Amino acid sequence: MSQKDDSNMVVTIRVRPESESEISNSNHKAIIKVVDENMLIFDPNDDLRQSLSSKSNTRHLEQRYAFDKVFDQFATQQEVFENTTKGLIDYVLDGYNATVFAYGATGSGKTHTMIGNEKSGAGIMVLTMRALFESIDKQRDEKKHTVSMSYLEVYNETIRDLLINDSKSLELREDSAKMVVVKDLTEKHPNSSQDVFDLLEFGNNNRKQSPTQANLTSSRSHAVLQIYIRQQDRTGDIETNLKFSKLSLIDLAGSERASKTMNTGARLTEGANINKSLLALGNCINALGDANRKGNKKPYIPFRDSKLTRLLKDSLGGNCKTIMIANISPNSISYEDTHNTLKYADRAKQI
Ligand code: ADP
Ligand code: MG
Repeated sequence: MSQKDDSNMVVTIRVRPESESEISNSNHKAIIKVVDENMLIFDPNDDLRQSLSSKSNTRHLEQRYAFDKVFDQFATQQEVFENTTKGLIDYVLDGYNATVFAYGATGSGKTHTMIGNEKSGAGIMVLTMRALFESIDKQRDEKKHTVSMSYLEVYNETIRDLLINDSKSLELREDSAKMVVVKDLTEKHPNSSQDVFDLLEFGNNNRKQSPTQANLTSSRSHAVLQIYIRQQDRTGDIETNLKFSKLSLIDLAGSERASKTMNTGARLTEGANINKSLLALGNCINALGDANRKGNKKPYIPFRDSKLTRLLKDSLGGNCKTIMIANISPNSISYEDTHNTLKYADRAKQI
Protein backbone atom coordinates (compact mmCIF):
# COMPACT_ATOMS: atom_id res chain seq x y z
CA MET A 1 0.00 0.00 0.00
CA SER A 2 2.95 2.22 -0.73
CA GLN A 3 2.14 5.64 -2.10
CA LYS A 4 -1.57 5.81 -1.43
CA ASP A 5 -1.65 4.82 2.20
CA ASP A 6 -4.22 7.42 3.14
CA SER A 7 -6.48 6.89 0.16
CA ASN A 8 -9.71 5.01 0.79
CA MET A 9 -9.31 2.82 -2.27
CA VAL A 10 -6.26 0.74 -3.01
CA VAL A 11 -6.19 -0.99 -6.37
CA THR A 12 -3.84 -3.89 -6.97
CA ILE A 13 -3.34 -6.39 -9.78
CA ARG A 14 -2.37 -10.01 -9.42
CA VAL A 15 -1.11 -11.80 -12.53
CA ARG A 16 -1.45 -15.55 -12.19
CA PRO A 17 1.05 -18.00 -13.71
CA GLU A 18 0.22 -19.41 -17.12
CA SER A 19 -1.55 -22.74 -16.91
CA GLU A 20 -0.12 -25.84 -18.58
CA SER A 21 -2.61 -25.63 -21.41
CA GLU A 22 -1.78 -21.97 -22.00
CA ILE A 23 1.93 -22.76 -22.12
CA SER A 24 1.51 -25.75 -24.44
CA ASN A 25 -0.64 -23.84 -26.92
CA SER A 26 1.81 -22.30 -29.36
CA ASN A 27 -0.83 -20.00 -30.86
CA HIS A 28 -0.97 -18.09 -27.64
CA LYS A 29 1.62 -16.16 -25.76
CA ALA A 30 2.15 -14.01 -22.71
CA ILE A 31 0.91 -10.44 -23.22
CA ILE A 32 1.52 -9.03 -19.74
CA LYS A 33 4.90 -7.85 -18.57
CA VAL A 34 5.26 -6.82 -14.97
CA VAL A 35 7.74 -3.93 -15.01
CA ASP A 36 8.01 -3.35 -11.29
CA GLU A 37 5.83 -3.48 -8.22
CA ASN A 38 3.68 -0.59 -9.47
CA MET A 39 3.59 -1.01 -13.22
CA LEU A 40 2.74 -3.50 -15.92
CA ILE A 41 2.71 -3.43 -19.69
CA PHE A 42 -0.21 -4.84 -21.60
CA ASP A 43 1.14 -5.70 -25.02
CA PRO A 44 -1.38 -7.60 -27.06
CA ASN A 45 0.59 -7.68 -30.23
CA ASP A 46 4.24 -7.94 -29.40
CA ASP A 47 5.18 -10.54 -31.97
CA LEU A 48 2.91 -9.14 -34.68
CA ARG A 49 4.69 -5.81 -34.49
CA GLN A 50 8.08 -7.46 -34.49
CA SER A 51 7.31 -9.58 -37.50
CA LEU A 52 6.12 -6.55 -39.42
CA SER A 53 9.14 -4.66 -38.12
CA SER A 54 7.24 -1.52 -38.88
CA LYS A 55 7.00 1.56 -36.71
CA SER A 56 3.88 2.63 -38.55
CA ASN A 57 1.84 -0.08 -36.92
CA THR A 58 0.38 2.12 -34.22
CA ARG A 59 -2.91 0.32 -33.93
CA HIS A 60 -1.77 -1.99 -31.15
CA LEU A 61 0.53 0.16 -29.11
CA GLU A 62 1.54 -1.34 -25.82
CA GLN A 63 -0.24 0.14 -22.84
CA ARG A 64 1.32 0.93 -19.51
CA TYR A 65 -0.77 0.73 -16.37
CA ALA A 66 0.21 1.93 -12.92
CA PHE A 67 -1.42 0.59 -9.78
CA ASP A 68 -0.84 0.77 -6.05
CA LYS A 69 0.72 -2.65 -6.32
CA VAL A 70 1.29 -5.20 -9.05
CA PHE A 71 1.92 -8.84 -8.10
CA ASP A 72 3.56 -11.03 -10.71
CA GLN A 73 3.16 -14.76 -11.14
CA PHE A 74 5.78 -15.48 -8.50
CA ALA A 75 4.05 -13.58 -5.71
CA THR A 76 3.23 -15.86 -2.81
CA GLN A 77 -0.05 -15.86 -0.93
CA GLN A 78 1.79 -14.36 2.05
CA GLU A 79 3.22 -11.51 -0.05
CA VAL A 80 -0.17 -10.66 -1.48
CA PHE A 81 -1.67 -10.67 1.99
CA GLU A 82 1.12 -8.57 3.51
CA ASN A 83 0.82 -5.92 0.82
CA THR A 84 -2.96 -5.71 0.84
CA THR A 85 -5.29 -6.82 3.62
CA LYS A 86 -2.71 -6.85 6.40
CA GLY A 87 -2.70 -3.06 6.34
CA LEU A 88 -6.42 -3.03 7.13
CA ILE A 89 -6.21 -4.95 10.38
CA ASP A 90 -5.17 -2.01 12.58
CA TYR A 91 -7.74 0.16 10.86
CA VAL A 92 -10.52 -2.30 11.59
CA LEU A 93 -9.30 -2.67 15.18
CA ASP A 94 -9.64 1.13 15.45
CA GLY A 95 -13.36 0.67 14.81
CA TYR A 96 -13.72 1.30 11.06
CA ASN A 97 -15.21 -0.96 8.40
CA ALA A 98 -13.21 -2.22 5.43
CA THR A 99 -13.74 -4.36 2.34
CA VAL A 100 -11.48 -6.44 0.12
CA PHE A 101 -12.66 -7.65 -3.30
CA ALA A 102 -11.12 -10.21 -5.59
CA TYR A 103 -12.24 -9.08 -9.04
CA GLY A 104 -11.66 -10.73 -12.41
CA ALA A 105 -12.95 -13.12 -15.05
CA THR A 106 -13.61 -16.77 -14.29
CA GLY A 107 -10.28 -18.61 -14.21
CA SER A 108 -8.21 -15.51 -13.41
CA GLY A 109 -7.34 -16.55 -9.85
CA LYS A 110 -9.93 -14.94 -7.53
CA THR A 111 -10.69 -18.02 -5.46
CA HIS A 112 -7.02 -18.90 -5.35
CA THR A 113 -6.29 -15.44 -3.95
CA MET A 114 -9.08 -15.37 -1.39
CA ILE A 115 -9.28 -19.00 -0.31
CA GLY A 116 -6.18 -20.73 -1.67
CA ASN A 117 -5.43 -24.41 -1.65
CA GLU A 118 -3.16 -27.03 -0.10
CA LYS A 119 -0.42 -26.58 -2.69
CA SER A 120 0.00 -22.79 -2.76
CA GLY A 121 -1.18 -22.26 0.79
CA ALA A 122 -4.07 -20.52 2.47
CA GLY A 123 -5.46 -17.41 0.86
CA ILE A 124 -6.34 -14.00 2.20
CA MET A 125 -9.38 -15.07 4.18
CA VAL A 126 -7.45 -17.41 6.47
CA LEU A 127 -4.26 -15.29 6.58
CA THR A 128 -6.33 -12.28 7.63
CA MET A 129 -8.05 -14.13 10.44
CA ARG A 130 -4.72 -15.47 11.66
CA ALA A 131 -3.15 -12.00 11.74
CA LEU A 132 -6.26 -10.56 13.37
CA PHE A 133 -6.05 -13.12 16.19
CA GLU A 134 -2.38 -12.26 16.69
CA SER A 135 -3.06 -8.51 16.87
CA ILE A 136 -5.90 -9.04 19.31
CA ASP A 137 -3.71 -11.23 21.46
CA LYS A 138 -1.18 -8.42 21.78
CA GLN A 139 -3.88 -6.06 23.06
CA ARG A 140 -5.33 -8.61 25.45
CA ASP A 141 -4.36 -6.74 28.62
CA GLU A 142 -6.03 -3.48 27.62
CA LYS A 143 -9.03 -4.64 25.63
CA LYS A 144 -11.61 -7.35 25.45
CA HIS A 145 -12.43 -8.42 21.89
CA THR A 146 -15.14 -10.67 20.55
CA VAL A 147 -14.57 -11.92 17.01
CA SER A 148 -17.22 -13.64 14.98
CA MET A 149 -17.71 -14.43 11.31
CA SER A 150 -20.40 -15.20 8.80
CA TYR A 151 -20.03 -16.60 5.31
CA LEU A 152 -22.74 -16.08 2.75
CA GLU A 153 -23.33 -16.27 -0.95
CA VAL A 154 -25.16 -13.86 -3.21
CA TYR A 155 -26.41 -15.93 -6.10
CA ASN A 156 -29.03 -14.73 -8.53
CA GLU A 157 -29.95 -11.85 -6.16
CA THR A 158 -30.61 -14.28 -3.34
CA ILE A 159 -28.60 -14.34 -0.11
CA ARG A 160 -27.87 -17.78 1.28
CA ASP A 161 -26.06 -18.77 4.44
CA LEU A 162 -23.03 -20.91 3.57
CA LEU A 163 -22.45 -22.01 7.17
CA ILE A 164 -25.54 -24.19 7.29
CA ASN A 165 -26.82 -26.84 4.91
CA ASP A 166 -29.82 -26.00 2.73
CA SER A 167 -30.09 -22.34 3.63
CA LYS A 168 -33.27 -20.52 2.77
CA SER A 169 -33.15 -17.09 1.17
CA LEU A 170 -32.22 -14.47 3.80
CA GLU A 171 -33.42 -10.88 4.23
CA LEU A 172 -31.35 -7.73 4.61
CA ARG A 173 -32.16 -5.24 7.39
CA GLU A 174 -30.68 -2.08 8.81
CA ASP A 175 -30.39 -1.83 12.59
CA SER A 176 -30.94 1.31 14.68
CA ALA A 177 -27.30 2.32 14.24
CA LYS A 178 -27.65 2.04 10.43
CA MET A 179 -25.55 -1.09 10.36
CA VAL A 180 -26.62 -3.60 7.74
CA VAL A 181 -27.65 -6.97 9.14
CA VAL A 182 -28.70 -10.18 7.42
CA LYS A 183 -31.59 -11.65 9.36
CA ASP A 184 -31.01 -15.20 10.72
CA LEU A 185 -27.48 -15.40 9.30
CA THR A 186 -25.23 -17.81 11.23
CA GLU A 187 -22.50 -16.10 13.23
CA LYS A 188 -19.67 -18.37 14.37
CA HIS A 189 -16.99 -17.60 16.96
CA PRO A 190 -13.78 -19.18 15.67
CA ASN A 191 -10.86 -19.37 18.12
CA SER A 192 -8.04 -20.15 15.72
CA SER A 193 -7.17 -19.89 12.05
CA GLN A 194 -7.78 -23.64 11.82
CA ASP A 195 -11.39 -23.09 12.94
CA VAL A 196 -11.67 -20.45 10.22
CA PHE A 197 -10.24 -22.75 7.60
CA ASP A 198 -12.70 -25.51 8.58
CA LEU A 199 -15.65 -23.11 8.44
CA LEU A 200 -14.63 -21.80 5.03
CA GLU A 201 -14.21 -25.31 3.71
CA PHE A 202 -17.66 -26.23 4.97
CA GLY A 203 -19.07 -23.09 3.37
CA ASN A 204 -17.36 -23.67 0.06
CA ASN A 205 -18.82 -27.15 -0.14
CA ASN A 206 -22.23 -25.61 0.30
CA ARG A 207 -21.42 -23.24 -2.52
CA LYS A 208 -20.76 -26.17 -4.81
CA GLN A 209 -23.95 -28.01 -3.96
CA SER A 210 -26.17 -25.46 -5.64
CA PRO A 211 -28.72 -26.84 -8.08
CA THR A 212 -26.88 -25.81 -11.24
CA GLN A 213 -23.49 -27.02 -12.38
CA ALA A 214 -20.62 -26.40 -10.00
CA ASN A 215 -18.55 -24.21 -12.34
CA LEU A 216 -21.44 -22.07 -13.34
CA THR A 217 -22.43 -21.53 -9.75
CA SER A 218 -19.11 -20.32 -8.50
CA SER A 219 -18.57 -18.11 -11.53
CA ARG A 220 -21.94 -16.43 -10.95
CA SER A 221 -22.00 -16.18 -7.20
CA HIS A 222 -20.31 -13.80 -4.80
CA ALA A 223 -18.89 -15.44 -1.68
CA VAL A 224 -18.78 -12.97 1.21
CA LEU A 225 -16.87 -13.57 4.43
CA GLN A 226 -17.71 -10.96 7.05
CA ILE A 227 -15.65 -10.66 10.20
CA TYR A 228 -17.25 -8.76 13.09
CA ILE A 229 -15.17 -7.31 15.88
CA ARG A 230 -16.70 -6.05 19.11
CA GLN A 231 -14.28 -4.50 21.53
CA GLN A 232 -14.31 -2.71 24.85
CA ASP A 233 -11.66 -1.35 27.18
CA ARG A 234 -10.95 -3.60 30.12
CA THR A 235 -11.01 -0.71 32.58
CA GLY A 236 -13.31 1.86 30.98
CA ASP A 237 -17.03 2.39 30.99
CA ILE A 238 -18.46 -0.42 28.92
CA GLU A 239 -21.20 1.59 27.23
CA THR A 240 -19.07 4.45 25.96
CA ASN A 241 -16.06 2.42 24.92
CA LEU A 242 -17.85 -0.23 22.98
CA LYS A 243 -16.65 -0.37 19.38
CA PHE A 244 -18.02 -2.46 16.57
CA SER A 245 -16.46 -2.94 13.18
CA LYS A 246 -16.70 -5.21 10.16
CA LEU A 247 -14.23 -6.52 7.63
CA SER A 248 -15.72 -7.98 4.44
CA LEU A 249 -13.62 -10.26 2.24
CA ILE A 250 -15.26 -11.07 -1.07
CA ASP A 251 -14.64 -13.57 -3.85
CA LEU A 252 -16.71 -11.87 -6.57
CA ALA A 253 -18.58 -13.52 -9.41
CA GLY A 254 -16.70 -13.72 -12.73
CA SER A 255 -16.60 -10.34 -14.43
CA GLU A 256 -16.65 -11.66 -18.01
CA ARG A 257 -20.25 -10.81 -18.78
CA ALA A 258 -20.45 -7.55 -16.93
CA SER A 259 -17.12 -5.91 -17.65
CA LYS A 260 -17.83 -4.57 -21.10
CA THR A 261 -20.81 -2.59 -19.90
CA MET A 262 -19.08 -1.42 -16.74
CA ASN A 263 -16.12 0.12 -18.47
CA THR A 264 -18.25 2.64 -20.30
CA GLY A 265 -18.79 4.41 -17.00
CA ALA A 266 -22.34 5.16 -18.04
CA ARG A 267 -25.31 4.16 -15.97
CA LEU A 268 -25.45 0.43 -16.38
CA THR A 269 -28.44 -1.55 -17.46
CA GLU A 270 -29.06 -5.15 -16.89
CA GLY A 271 -28.75 -7.50 -19.80
CA ALA A 272 -30.16 -11.00 -19.94
CA ASN A 273 -27.22 -12.82 -18.46
CA ILE A 274 -25.47 -10.08 -16.60
CA ASN A 275 -24.89 -10.29 -12.89
CA LYS A 276 -26.98 -7.56 -11.30
CA SER A 277 -24.91 -7.33 -8.12
CA LEU A 278 -21.67 -7.04 -10.05
CA LEU A 279 -23.10 -4.28 -12.24
CA ALA A 280 -24.45 -2.43 -9.21
CA LEU A 281 -21.07 -2.68 -7.51
CA GLY A 282 -19.53 -1.10 -10.62
CA ASN A 283 -22.10 1.70 -10.48
CA CYS A 284 -21.38 2.36 -6.80
CA ILE A 285 -17.64 2.41 -7.40
CA ASN A 286 -18.10 4.78 -10.36
CA ALA A 287 -20.35 7.05 -8.27
CA LEU A 288 -17.86 7.10 -5.40
CA GLY A 289 -15.11 7.95 -7.87
CA ASP A 290 -17.11 10.79 -9.44
CA ALA A 291 -17.97 12.18 -6.01
CA ASN A 292 -14.34 12.05 -5.01
CA ARG A 293 -13.20 13.94 -8.10
CA LYS A 294 -15.86 16.60 -7.58
CA GLY A 295 -15.22 16.85 -3.86
CA ASN A 296 -18.84 15.98 -3.17
CA LYS A 297 -19.07 14.99 0.49
CA LYS A 298 -22.63 13.68 0.44
CA PRO A 299 -22.96 11.98 -2.94
CA TYR A 300 -25.82 9.77 -3.99
CA ILE A 301 -24.51 6.22 -4.26
CA PRO A 302 -26.95 3.67 -5.70
CA PHE A 303 -26.45 1.05 -2.97
CA ARG A 304 -30.08 -0.04 -3.15
CA ASP A 305 -29.78 -1.45 -6.67
CA SER A 306 -28.61 -4.94 -5.73
CA LYS A 307 -28.23 -7.37 -2.85
CA LEU A 308 -24.46 -7.17 -2.80
CA THR A 309 -24.34 -3.37 -2.68
CA ARG A 310 -27.09 -3.18 -0.05
CA LEU A 311 -25.08 -5.61 2.03
CA LEU A 312 -21.99 -3.41 1.68
CA LYS A 313 -23.71 -0.06 2.24
CA ASP A 314 -21.93 0.44 5.57
CA SER A 315 -18.63 -0.90 4.25
CA LEU A 316 -17.93 1.13 1.09
CA GLY A 317 -17.18 4.85 0.83
CA GLY A 318 -17.14 7.31 3.73
CA ASN A 319 -14.55 6.28 6.32
CA CYS A 320 -14.32 2.76 4.96
CA LYS A 321 -11.21 1.48 3.30
CA THR A 322 -11.46 -0.71 0.23
CA ILE A 323 -8.87 -2.86 -1.49
CA MET A 324 -9.41 -4.31 -4.91
CA ILE A 325 -7.29 -7.21 -6.05
CA ALA A 326 -7.93 -7.49 -9.77
CA ASN A 327 -6.86 -10.89 -11.06
CA ILE A 328 -5.67 -11.50 -14.62
CA SER A 329 -4.18 -14.23 -16.74
CA PRO A 330 -0.99 -13.25 -18.60
CA ASN A 331 -1.93 -15.24 -21.71
CA SER A 332 -3.27 -13.87 -24.99
CA ILE A 333 -6.14 -16.35 -24.92
CA SER A 334 -7.71 -14.13 -22.21
CA TYR A 335 -6.93 -10.91 -24.08
CA GLU A 336 -10.39 -9.39 -23.82
CA ASP A 337 -11.05 -10.29 -20.20
CA THR A 338 -7.64 -8.99 -19.21
CA HIS A 339 -8.11 -5.74 -21.09
CA ASN A 340 -11.51 -5.20 -19.49
CA THR A 341 -10.21 -5.95 -16.01
CA LEU A 342 -7.30 -3.53 -16.46
CA LYS A 343 -9.65 -0.77 -17.60
CA TYR A 344 -12.02 -1.44 -14.73
CA ALA A 345 -9.24 -1.43 -12.15
CA ASP A 346 -7.79 1.72 -13.70
CA ARG A 347 -11.12 3.46 -13.25
CA ALA A 348 -11.42 2.33 -9.64
CA LYS A 349 -8.11 4.10 -8.86
CA GLN A 350 -9.94 7.43 -9.04
CA ILE A 351 -11.74 6.84 -5.76
P1 ADP B 1 -11.37 -17.91 -10.41
O1 ADP B 1 -11.80 -18.12 -8.98
O2 ADP B 1 -11.08 -16.47 -10.72
O3 ADP B 1 -12.33 -18.51 -11.39
P2 ADP B 1 -9.26 -19.75 -9.72
O4 ADP B 1 -8.80 -19.13 -8.45
O5 ADP B 1 -10.15 -20.95 -9.58
O6 ADP B 1 -9.98 -18.66 -10.64
O7 ADP B 1 -7.98 -20.04 -10.60
C1 ADP B 1 -8.03 -20.78 -11.82
C2 ADP B 1 -6.89 -21.80 -11.82
O8 ADP B 1 -5.63 -21.16 -11.78
C3 ADP B 1 -6.94 -22.72 -10.60
O9 ADP B 1 -6.52 -24.00 -11.00
C4 ADP B 1 -5.93 -22.10 -9.66
O10 ADP B 1 -5.38 -23.04 -8.76
C5 ADP B 1 -4.88 -21.55 -10.62
N1 ADP B 1 -4.24 -20.34 -10.06
C6 ADP B 1 -4.80 -19.13 -9.99
N2 ADP B 1 -3.95 -18.23 -9.46
C7 ADP B 1 -2.81 -18.89 -9.19
C8 ADP B 1 -1.54 -18.52 -8.63
N3 ADP B 1 -1.28 -17.26 -8.25
N4 ADP B 1 -0.60 -19.49 -8.51
C9 ADP B 1 -0.85 -20.75 -8.91
N5 ADP B 1 -2.01 -21.17 -9.43
C10 ADP B 1 -2.99 -20.27 -9.59
MG1 MG C 1 -13.58 -18.93 -8.31
